[in-house]
Amino acid sequence: MNEYINILQIIRGTTVDGPGFRTSIYIAGCRHECPGCHNPSSWDFNGGTPYTIEQLMDIIKEEDFDVTLSGGDPLYHPEFVKELIKAVNAIGHNGWLYTGFR
Ligand code: SF4
Repeated sequence: MNEYINILQIIRGTTVDGPGFRTSIYIAGCRHECPGCHNPSSWDFNGGTPYTIEQLMDIIKEEDFDVTLSGGDPLYHPEFVKELIKAVNAIGHNGWLYTGFR
């Protein structure tokens, strides 16, 4: 598992990525090339800024909201995402994830 992944944006307290107020984390990188993709600028895996799970959890704990992962496609980093969601669940919050994988 990578120690860090590149994050494009973190939105604190959004209501558009799932139920209730959420911390939304946009992970860089996608190769699906879906027709009509809403955000082709997110496809570059080298975009954004690197974050570790610990750094992301510091922000998630600070906000104390449920969490949504989007991108890009978070599931290009399955082990990192699994550990991040486990950490989110461990503090009593749910984690949603948007993916282009089937
Ligand atoms: S999975 Fe999402 S980011 Fe990737 S190409 Fe499809 S719509 Fe765009």
